[in-house]
Formats: sequence, C-alpha cells, structure tokens
Amino acid sequence: MLWQPSLPDAYLAMCDEELVARISDRRARLGDRLVILGHHYQTDEVVRHADFLGDSLKLSQLAASVVADRAAEGTAVEHIVFCGVHFMAETADMLTPDQVGVILPDLSAGCSMADMATYEDTVDAWEIIHASLKQSGWEGRIIPITYVNSSAAIKAFVGSHGGACCTSSNADQVFAWAMNGGTEPRKPGEDIKILFLPDQHLGRNTASDYGIDVEQNTCVYDPRRTHRGEPLGGASAFELHNAVTILWAGHCSVHKLFRPEHCDEIRASEKDLPESEKTTILVHPECCKEVVDKSDLSGSTEFIINRLRDAEPGSKWAVGTEVHLVARMANECAGRGVHVRILSDCQCLCTTMSRIDQPHLLWVLDGLCGVGTSNDQPAEHEGGEAKARNIIRVHPEVRGPALLALGRMLEHTGAGAAAD
Ligand code: SF4
Repeated sequence: MLWQPSLPDAYLAMCDEELVARISDRRARLGDRLVILGHHYQTDEVVRHADFLGDSLKLSQLAASVVADRAAEGTAVEHIVFCGVHFMAETADMLTPDQVGVILPDLSAGCSMADMATYEDTVDAWEIIHASLKQSGWEGRIIPITYVNSSAAIKAFVGSHGGACCTSSNADQVFAWAMNGGTEPRKPGEDIKILFLPDQHLGRNTASDYGIDVEQNTCVYDPRRTHRGEPLGGASAFELHNAVTILWAGHCSVHKLFRPEHCDEIRASEKDLPESEKTTILVHPECCKEVVDKSDLSGSTEFIINRLRDAEPGSKWAVGTEVHLVARMANECAGRGVHVRILSDCQCLCTTMSRIDQPHLLWVLDGLCGVGTSNDQPAEHEGGEAKARNIIRVHPEVRGPALLALGRMLEHTGAGAAAD
C-alpha cells in the first residue's frame, strides 16, 4: 500500500454542502482539461461528481477516447481523477497519452486482491513451478493469464511470458485462447497449463466453464506457504503435474463474504412459493465456485447491471456483489417494481475503494487549481502554485509488456471487455 499524507484538518471538518460547492467550483475552473471517473463500487457522494461511471477497464478505455475526442476538438485533457483503486489508475495511465496525468485521490486506495500477487512472488512461482514440472518429466507450455485486477507489474510479467489479461466478462474467451496455444498455435499433442493470477475464484469458475474437472485438474499455488517453507506453495508435485490450471491463491475480500449458506437460506425460505415468485440469485464470478454453482446467474458487473435493468416488474433479485452498486441498483429498480437486495446482510463493501471520499477528491482538485487550505493557513486561499498531487505513473519498462497483455486480450475478445 502506498503512503497517503493526512489531509489538513479543514478538509475533514467541512460539511457535505461545502464540499459539494467547492468540488463543483474546481470542476468548473478546470473545465474540459479535467475528467473525473467513478467506479461502480464508489459511494453516491463521490459518483455524483464523476463525468463517467463504470467498471475499471471500461472507464480507462472511455478516458482514452474522451482524451482523443477533446484533442480533435482542440482541447487537451490534462488530468484524469480516477475515483477507484490503484490498479485502475495504472491502467488509465497506460491507456492514455503521456501528457495526461492520472490522479488517485487517496494513495492508500489499493485492491487487496491485486496486492496478493507481487511481482517477486510471481517470478519465484514461475521458476519453482517450472522446475517441479521438469523434475516430474512434464513437457509443455505454461501460459499465464492475469485478471485486470492486478498491478501493472503483474500485467507486464504476463505480457512478457506470452500471456494475456482478462476481465470477468471475457475470461472464458481468453482462457480458450490460451488453451489453444495463445501466441503460438498449440502443436498436436502439446500439453498446455494455465497459471491464473491473482483471483483463484474467477480462475476456478472459468476453468470449470471450460469443462475442466476442477477437483482433479486444478491446484492452488499460495506464495505465503512458500514463504513459510513449503516448497511448492502448498501444492504437491503430483498436483502441479496433473493440473491443467494452476490457481494463484488470491481472492476478493468483498466477494468472498458471500457464502453458499446465503443461497440456501433464500431457497429454504421460498420453498413453498411458485417458481414465478422466487428470488433470482445473481452473483459475480469473483464469488467462490460453491456460491456460483448455487446461483441462478453469474457474470461481470456490466452483466449484473444489464440483467437488473432488463428485469420484469415484480421480480425479486438477490445480488452477490459490492454493496454500493447493489444499493444503487435497488434504488433504480424500485421505480419499476423490481425488488433488488444484497445476497448477504454482512458489510460487503470494498473498504479500500471507500477511502476515496469527497475531502480527498477536493484536496487533489484544490492542488490542480492552486487553491485550498492548509493547517498553517486554514482559511481558503487563492493564487497558490498549481500542483498535481497523487499522480500514478507506470514506468515505461513496465508499460510496454503490460500493454502487450492488455492488447492480446482486446485482440482476441473484441469489445466485450467489462472488468470487475
Ligand atoms: S471489490 Fe475486490 S477486487 Fe474490486 S477493488 Fe475491491 S478488493 Fe479489489
């Protein structure tokens, strides 16, 4: 996690009305030089200031096209403020021109899943797994796939080892591409394994959809177990040899909170209802396989939103994804008589994403406008030096191979690139 300096007290003391007024004023001052992106999992207080609301990759792609459109009209976008988490800002930086600065309002807004796969652990795992397989007489290729919810460094590792990124909506296509040989067509009789980073649940659900027996032909590599002295990340040489998919031991701390029991409770409470009155359970594939298996439907954030928007009046839905999105959709759908609730009553919120709040948003906008307050100068002052705070910049040596991994995904899946 990156270190975020504390905000001057005045920002934390402001009431909602004042924050809204000041943020609106800064947006007006910066005009078309500024784009604010809001992820679906953000709070309503934050997303009301966003120019665009969406999932991670779509927002970055949208930002890139807005930058190009405004350039064609003669206006240069200078700043993108990404109200999301760190890996999303990295992706936006990689997909937009160098002169655009991408800003994350709070540097401590990371993603616990992305943080579970470090570059060093991935390099070690790659060597350890290859060495074990060689020793067991296995010959073939391992193709790495990383979910876009990963650091730029992991995307770069994957890009430079013949692999690709995937999103939750195109993981099936990327998986099939890799099983067919990826960048080099699979030779007759050639054995291929996939190393799927960093979300074991999306990897397992995707492998299962592809037709792989996940009990027999997947195994989990856990770098923490390697650190604790287990040589193969907790897997055995036999499991690695038999695995068609090696799953990284990462998970989303939000989606892991949905449990099979939550599905069972709904089914049990509605067992006497006619089919037409029963709740449809709709979950994200970052949920564990047992939950996905017990659900009626599973899919990406965009899939979830579209299904709810298309739902029949009177229908009932229990949704297994982040609480802010579910609450927003419940509100929107209530007007059409569609009943939407979260699958579990526990606090399924992305706490790191929630670190982005109005005070932090105002603080970075104040920096861009050269206005604001400080602990030394608590009254609002004008005419300071404009400075871009919290810029996220991906190193050029990382950017190239990471873009290769993103590019392979887009090339082999077309437009269907909705992320988490
Ligand atoms: S919801 Fe999960 S995967 Fe998405 S940003 Fe939060 S921790 Fe990461």
